[in-house]
Amino acid sequence: MVTKRDYYEVLEISKDATQSDIKKSFRSLARKYHPDKNPDDPSAENKFKEIQEAYAILSNVDERRKYDTYGHNRPGGSPFGPDGFQGVNINIDDLFGGGFESIFGQIFGSSRSNSRRKKGGDLLVRHTISFQSVYDGLDDELEIEALTSCSKCNGSGSKDLDGVRPCPSCNGRGRVQRIERVGPFAQQVVSDCPACNATGKIVTNPCISCNGEGSSYQAKKIKFSVPPGISTGNRIKITGQGEPPRGNVGENGNLYIEIEVLEHTWFERDGADILMALPVNYTDLLLGTTVVISHVDGKDLNIKIPPNSKPGDTITLPRRGLPHMRSSRGRGSVTVLLKLDMPTKISRSLKNKLKELKPEISNSISLEESIIEEAKKRRGK
Ligand SMILES: [Zn+2]
Ligand SMILES: [Zn+2]
Repeated sequence: MVTKRDYYEVLEISKDATQSDIKKSFRSLARKYHPDKNPDDPSAENKFKEIQEAYAILSNVDERRKYDTYGHNRPGGSPFGPDGFQGVNINIDDLFGGGFESIFGQIFGSSRSNSRRKKGGDLLVRHTISFQSVYDGLDDELEIEALTSCSKCNGSGSKDLDGVRPCPSCNGRGRVQRIERVGPFAQQVVSDCPACNATGKIVTNPCISCNGEGSSYQAKKIKFSVPPGISTGNRIKITGQGEPPRGNVGENGNLYIEIEVLEHTWFERDGADILMALPVNYTDLLLGTTVVISHVDGKDLNIKIPPNSKPGDTITLPRRGLPHMRSSRGRGSVTVLLKLDMPTKISRSLKNKLKELKPEISNSISLEESIIEEAKKRRGK
């Protein structure tokens, strides 16, 4: 018998690795040793299986605790049953997304598959908030049409208590098992019982209100708070506000609210930092000035433009940006990019004055002068 390697050693992690470390290391090793990637190396297949086994144990909190206590010699034999670990069929693409997690979620017998069955579906809705709300945070509300447990039959789907019988196909378990062989791996596949739709129950006298479904679509109001500093794409999780579990046994799924932040008229956002382009005329760039604009924090933003500024210069106002989400790091900064604002038309009198000033202005522009000088020099050569 070959000695089994330590699971932590297999995954190249330390004993105090977090779940996210474990997942990260598994993903990168599994990608490296996936049989599809190593068709000519028969040892890769065993290595791949070894990595899978280590991951199956260490990613499961209960199993990891047992392994930490007993090592490979735990009482009661292999957690994978009498035949030991058989491998799991993972598509290589799953290793790039999160697809492999649900595969591993099923492998420890029926208790885990039951807990999976008992949770209702998760919901995702999108919700738009103003730019200002990113600064202040917000208590908000939205209405969703969601599958909701029927109040008439308490979600059972049955008109009366006697009208529910255990499903004969799965003996009331809701799940059926079979062995499937995919590529090099034989695996035990547990799937939903088609006869009872995984509820484990057959309704003989259906509830009229929900047609025996146990749930129906109903509008419901959801209250939630948006933390300051939130960004487009962030999701707020509302536990238990998803769909009810099938047969109403178990817990509801979760509701995820994906936030979209509306664009601001002149502010652009980079995390907690705010950027803005400020059009300034020629004389203000040259002589300097202070531009005052109203800001998201309720105080004015005083942008001091120093004399002799150029278009493209930036002015940074530290700690006047947006708050960092769920962090005490304070606020980001505001960066103002100066742009030259050219008038579209000018009055006759201004035109005349500029003509008068032109010789003087031309002389004072060093850049233009140096270009002309440089060009003359080059021609002279
Ligand atoms: Zn069934
Ligand atoms: Zn009902």
